[in-house]
Formats: sequence, C-alpha cells, structure tokens
Amino acid sequence: VLILCARVPGYGLCDVRITGELIRQISPRLTREPGEEDLDARGRWLLPGLHYHHIHLCALAASLTSVLVGPPEVRDSGGLAARLAEADRTLPSGAWLRGTGYHESVAGLLDRDTLDRLLPGRPVRIQHRTGELWVLNSRALDLVGHGDATELAGSGRLWRMDSWLAQRMRTQPADALPLDLAAVSAAAAQLGVTGFTDATPDMTDSAVHGLADAVKHGEIVQRVHCMAPPEATDPGVDRFTLGPVKIILDDPALPSLDEFAGRVVAAHAAGRPVAVHCVTRVQLALTQAALDIAGVMPGDRIEHGAIIGAASLPWLRERGVIVVTQPHFVVERAEQYASDVPAEDQPDHWRLNALLTAGVRVAGGTDAPFGNPNPWNAIRACVRRPAPIGLARGLRLFLGSADQPARARRVAPGAVADLVLLGQHVAATIVGGRLVYHSG
Ligand SMILES: [Zn+2]
Repeated sequence: VLILCARVPGYGLCDVRITGELIRQISPRLTREPGEEDLDARGRWLLPGLHYHHIHLCALAASLTSVLVGPPEVRDSGGLAARLAEADRTLPSGAWLRGTGYHESVAGLLDRDTLDRLLPGRPVRIQHRTGELWVLNSRALDLVGHGDATELAGSGRLWRMDSWLAQRMRTQPADALPLDLAAVSAAAAQLGVTGFTDATPDMTDSAVHGLADAVKHGEIVQRVHCMAPPEATDPGVDRFTLGPVKIILDDPALPSLDEFAGRVVAAHAAGRPVAVHCVTRVQLALTQAALDIAGVMPGDRIEHGAIIGAASLPWLRERGVIVVTQPHFVVERAEQYASDVPAEDQPDHWRLNALLTAGVRVAGGTDAPFGNPNPWNAIRACVRRPAPIGLARGLRLFLGSADQPARARRVAPGAVADLVLLGQHVAATIVGGRLVYHSG
C-alpha cells in the first residue's frame, strides 16, 4: 500500500510505503510501484493506531445485547422499574434479561427479593458497574443451580463469581444471542483501534483459545494481547499473544504477603509479567511489598491505580512499574465519586498528572464495558478532568504497544504498520499493513 500526502509527526507532509506488515519508506515523494494500491490521505494525520490497554472483550460483546440499568440513563428506582419493564416487553418469553452498569445510587444494593418484585416472570441477572457483582432473581438462581453457592442464594448476590456464572450460563441457550465479537471489533476499527489488551481475570484455557479463534477467523481484526494464568497455553495464532498474569485483590479477602509474592514469582518464572488490580490504598501497599519480595519484571503493571499516595510515586518510577489508568472515570463518574470517596482519599484518587510529573510510566485503558468503550472519550477526558494533561499527552496513553504500554510507538520506517489516518474523524485504520476500516 502507498499512502499519499499524509501528515506524519516528525516528517511533515509525505508519502508512506507499506510492504507486508511493515512501514518501508517515508519520503516527500514516492512513485507507485506496479501492483501497489494507493490511498490518498489528503493531508490528514497518519499516527500509530490506538491500543486499548485494559478492556474486557467478551463482556463488551455481551453488553451489546444487555440493558443499561445505571447512571446516567437510569437514576432511581422508578427509572429502574421502567427500564426493566420495557426490556421485558421486547424480549421473547423465557429469555434471560441481562442488565449492566448498575450502581447503588439507583435503588440501593440490589438483592434477589427486589428483583423478584420487579420482574418475577423471567430470569434476570444484573451486573454491578464494577463488574465485581452479579445479582440474580429467583427464576435465574433456579436455572443456574446454586448447590455449591448456597450462602449466596439467599441474597442472590454472586460476588466475583463471573467465571462460575459464565460456566453455568453455557447450559442456558435462552441467554439471548451469541457474543458478537465482530461487532466489537468493527466498532473499534472505526475509532482507529488497532490492538486490545484483554484484562479479564480467571481466563480458562478454553476462553483463551476461544478469543484466539475469533482473531484467527477474522471476527476480531485487531491484535489481541490476552491476560491469562501462568499455565495457559499459547494458541499460536497470528495477531494473538499471551499477556500478563492478572491478579485480583479484594480488601475483605487479601492474600498473605508470602502467597501473593509466590504468585508473582510463578508468573515471572513462566516468562510473564503481572497485572495487579489495585483500587485501594491497602491493595497498592501490599502489591509494593509483594513485588519487593518477588522482584519486578519489565511489563509488571498496576491496573487502575485508583488510589496512589505521594509516597508511592518514587517507588513506581524507580522500579518502572506501569500504571494502566482510566483517565475518563473521574469525568464519567464525577457525581458518585464526590459523595462516595472519603475526603482523605480525594487528593490521591485517579491521579494522572501527578504520575506523569513524577516520571511514572502510564498507559490508558477504557475498561469497557465498565467504562465508555470509545477511546476518544477517554482522551477528551484528559482535557476536561481536574489537573488536565492536554490532548497530546492523553493520546499518548493509547499509543504504546501491548508489551510496552507506556512507550508511544512512532510512524517510522521499519515499524509495524498499525496505523490510523485521522482528520476530523478516523478516515482509515490499518492493522499489520492491512486496511481494516476506511470511511470511503
Ligand atoms: Zn477491568
């Protein structure tokens, strides 16, 4: 492919030749070779394609066929009842109703009885906005069976049981439609996204291979870097790589320091960095201690980093531990955070400017479907948030590669041709030299 008249950072207006997967030449004037396709950029910017550094692909696909039951669309119990009733009317009888994005500001902490009152006639499952909690009504609990989770059956609350529930749901053909990963991929291609790091915890080998198959068969046209346990086997699919080992921490059930450090050592021994979910002060402190025992490997990362005290900044910088943040949460969730986050935590909450100023390596992820999936929304939030960092630095959060998230890629000869052509909107997206989206 020969891209004509593109504006490339560091080069100005020029022509760009792509051969196979790579950028071959960048020059003010190149002549078309026989058999070469050309693409007139008409002076638009040619930039590295965006990489989502933290996303949940299957959950995002599932959310496409779900009902949003949280703010800002649904704000109170009346709104929740109306939204469920409306979905009830449109779904076939007996089909599961899957609600997402719930937050207790709507109608308090949900339980089985509340859902039974709202909608007794069909199986209902509602996911909390954080993705950590599902609440099921009685009909749904009966269908999935809860023999090994009896203590949960009373409230209908399944805490951190996503993979357990997913396993049970496989026997539920009425759970609406198959996952449309192709729709997720196409929507992302339209936004200039050329790669995903899937951060789903507890991925089984079959889930890893399922995602790899979607890449192999072209449902997903981007690259996928998939977090997975250390024992996961590499499916050996082009554009698909195994990523860090995800470690989830929950304050009520924190592992012992030795156990935690042991998990880090096991991941590193398998040649894989760790990605530790840290949303509280104690989680970050424990992670620092565990990494100090186990040692840091390049690529080790903190997911979210929702609370980072000033004292942690030098530790993060010196060890090169990457923070993968969601720059848009403070804008999207401003109202809830103002009331939910204790005053003493506010200054350390979702920091970004302070991390960059301190020289900490930072990358961005949307955390879709738990955050808005549009990366441009997250980039715009970098201007609108408190202590804004500006558009250019916001964009750089999404320009790193899968294994070096905090180092922005460049458009240069020899680089992999994962590119976005950008005017007012995304005009074209290229993955590995192949045009995967063109606005026409
Ligand atoms: Zn996540």
